[in-house]
Amino acid sequence: MSHLRIGLPSKGRLADQAAELLGLAGLNFRRQNRGLFARVGGLPVDITFLRTDDIPLLCAEGAIDMGITGGDLIEEAGVELVTRLPLDVGRCRLSVCVPEEAAIATPADLDGRRVATSFPRITERYFSQHQARVHLVPLSGSVEIMIALGVADAIVDLVQTGSTLAANRLRVLTDIDSYETVLIQNSRARMPEVADLIVRRLEGVVIARGWSLLEYNIPKAKLEDAERIAPGFNSPTVNALEDEAWCAVQVMVERKNVIGVMDELEQLGATAILETKITNCRL
Ligand code: AMP
Repeated sequence: MSHLRIGLPSKGRLADQAAELLGLAGLNFRRQNRGLFARVGGLPVDITFLRTDDIPLLCAEGAIDMGITGGDLIEEAGVELVTRLPLDVGRCRLSVCVPEEAAIATPADLDGRRVATSFPRITERYFSQHQARVHLVPLSGSVEIMIALGVADAIVDLVQTGSTLAANRLRVLTDIDSYETVLIQNSRARMPEVADLIVRRLEGVVIARGWSLLEYNIPKAKLEDAERIAPGFNSPTVNALEDEAWCAVQVMVERKNVIGVMDELEQLGATAILETKITNCRL
C-alpha cells in the first residue's frame, strides 16, 4: 500500500467541516456520486468515506491510517488511538439530562432508574463511579424524546447550545465530559512523513482560524504593559519606528479576545491598531 488512508465522515455536519478543513490545508479531492473513495491530488493520500461512529474502530484496526471524528465517539469506542490534533470544531458536552421539573439533584438520585443514551459505555462507567446502578436504554438516535415516550427517566446526550434540551423541557443535571472533533492516527504510524505533513498543514489552518494578527504602535515605555495585555502565541515582533520613543508591534491574539485586547491597548496609549485575519500559518 503506497497511499496513506484517511477516513472522513460520509455525511452529517462533520462531513462538510472535515472536507473544508482538508481543502484549506491543500488536500484537494473530489468525491464522485457519493462514492466511498477519493484520491487526493499531488499527495500519496486516499480518502475513505465512512460512518463517523465507525471511524475510531476502523482506525484502531488499521483499515484507515488516520481519521477525523468526534472525541466522544473515540471514548465510546474504547479503542487505543493517538489524537494528533484537536480541530477546534464540533465542541460539545456529554451531559446527564432530566426533566426540568424532576426532583433529581445528583447522579446518585438516578439509582434504579432508566437512562436512555447512544453512549452506553461512557454512561455505564459514569454511573458506576457515582454509586448509581441504572438500567441502560441504548439507542442510536432521537434520545431526547425518550423521556416523553416513557421509556427513560433521564438521558445522557450531547449538548451544544442547549436548544434541543429546552425544546424537550429537559435540563442538564451534570456534565460527564466535553469533546471536540479531532484528527486521529493508529499506533502503526504508517507513512510517518506524510502523516506529519498532514498534521502540520491542518495545524496551520486550525491556528489561523482561532487567531488574528494584531499590529499597533506604542511608546517604548509602555511596551511591557502592552505585552502583558497581548503576550502572543510565542512572542511579539517589535520593530523600530523613526520616532525613537515609539515602536511597532505585531502579535498573534486569540480571535475571541481581539476586541477586548484592542480596547485595552487603546486605553494604554497604542495607536494604529489593526487586526488582520489570517487564513493559514506555520508557527
Ligand atoms: P443543541 O440543541 O445545540 O444543544 O445540540 C444538541 C443536539 O445536537 C443533540 O441531538 C446532539 O446529539 C447533537 N449534537 C450536538 N453537538 C454535536 C456534536 N459535536 N456531534 C454530534 N452531534 C452533536
